[in-house]
Amino acid sequence: MTKVVIVGAGVAGVNDATKLVDNGFDGKITIIDMGLDPYRRPAADVMRGFLGAGGWSDGKLTYHTSIGGQLSKYTGDEKAMELFDQVINNFKRFHPNPDEVQCSNPVAEPDFIKPHFGLRLFPVWHVGTDYLHEIGKNWYDYLVEKGVEFLWETKVTDINFDNNIVVYDDSWEDYDQLIFGVGKSGIDFGKQLAEEYELPTEPKSVQIGVRFEAPQKHFQKLIDISYDFKLYQKFEEKGVSLRSFCTNNNAAYVAAEHTYGDVSYNGHAKKDEAYRNDMTNFGILMEIRNIDKPFDWSRTAVEKLQHEGVGLFYSPSHRVPSKTSEGDYVETHVVNSIDVLYDAIGEYALHIEDFIMDLEKVFPTLGKDWGIYMPEVKYLSPEPLVNYNDLSLTRFPNVHFVGDALSARGITVSGAQGTYVAESLLKN
Ligand SMILES: Cc1cc2nc3c(=O)[nH]c(=O)nc-3n(C[C@H](O)[C@H](O)[C@H](O)COP(=O)(O)OP(=O)(O)OC[C@H]3O[C@@H](n4cnc5c(N)ncnc54)[C@H](O)[C@@H]3O)c2cc1C
Repeated sequence: MTKVVIVGAGVAGVNDATKLVDNGFDGKITIIDMGLDPYRRPAADVMRGFLGAGGWSDGKLTYHTSIGGQLSKYTGDEKAMELFDQVINNFKRFHPNPDEVQCSNPVAEPDFIKPHFGLRLFPVWHVGTDYLHEIGKNWYDYLVEKGVEFLWETKVTDINFDNNIVVYDDSWEDYDQLIFGVGKSGIDFGKQLAEEYELPTEPKSVQIGVRFEAPQKHFQKLIDISYDFKLYQKFEEKGVSLRSFCTNNNAAYVAAEHTYGDVSYNGHAKKDEAYRNDMTNFGILMEIRNIDKPFDWSRTAVEKLQHEGVGLFYSPSHRVPSKTSEGDYVETHVVNSIDVLYDAIGEYALHIEDFIMDLEKVFPTLGKDWGIYMPEVKYLSPEPLVNYNDLSLTRFPNVHFVGDALSARGITVSGAQGTYVAESLLKN
């Protein structure tokens, strides 16, 4: 009997297992995760447990290959869209009210953002954080009923690729096929394995910036056109591009992420009207190419943006940091100037300041009515070179990397990569 071990019960791992059991896979599937099942997972555990970071996210399912580059690169555009459909259908299928899953599909780039910004337009399916908990429970019950074994609160500490063994606590598990889907919370583990086995990797860029927050009214004109608007600016000659990232509206909350003992910021939105705060938040994320050792560079920058164990907040109009959906203030330390950003990332900070000044021009009521949480960062894990037909390591064909462990950066792409690997296992 084929033994499939999935490390990480995140979006990628769960979609992989679902595809397998849906198609009558007759092997054994074990999913190991350091977090908890959806019934016991506490709200504070943003990154770990059933559906991983996706389980507590905003549930925005992007639906376009320009966003899912990390998928179409392997599968081609047509196959990528088909895989996206399968992931979105899973979210609908386990949704208590599937009709509420809505797709926003903007059509034209509006004139008023020009000449300062470009706007990337693509469809997004919106599930909503509140529903993800219920979806998680229904989905989990289905997999358990289909015989999938889950090991919770179990951190995998080593994997022996030569002998097909996964090591955790005081025990181990052998496997025929391994799916490695540890997400962002397992990024250091992926790095450790890449170094240990000297896995060939693809060159990566730095992705760093701030989480911008302001009253929603200033952005309403654009939100009406595109809920999760993606404004961008490119400076090709400098190897720099900026984009607004993961926009949240209506009931929009900033979330502190704990990675490597530091705090960085992200955001999510609630669907329930009871949570409405009429705020908008989005990342202003800068991609910087050609930086030697991008991971170490980002780590150093993030460390400089910490004060007594939390990140920093700046507002030129002295707005106060907002509250989380649990009613506590966002963990942050208020600073009186944006200079700290220059100290951390040097002259690159100018691009972020310019981006904000351009926002002020395009959205005239905004003025200085905004605040930024510093930093927002995407640590791109060293991305191992994989075979394009099944995302397996070039040196270990029964080890498949999926999701954020393969730089997927998003729910739909991560789930689709998991599904893609499952399809290849079913074929064989
Ligand atoms: C606050 C927030 C909001 C977000 N909002 C969106 C959004 O709206 N739309 C979108 O597309 N994306 C969003 N994202 C990103 C998205 O959630 C991730 O891209 C996606 O979940 C990645 O899927 P994954 O399966 O690769 O990893 P994850 O979903 O992160 O799952 C990884 C799992 O691996 C487990 N794990 C890690 N290391 C180990 C180990 N050593 N041993 C055992 N288990 C381990 C973790 O506990 C976790 O459950 C958001 C992320 C955050 C944090």
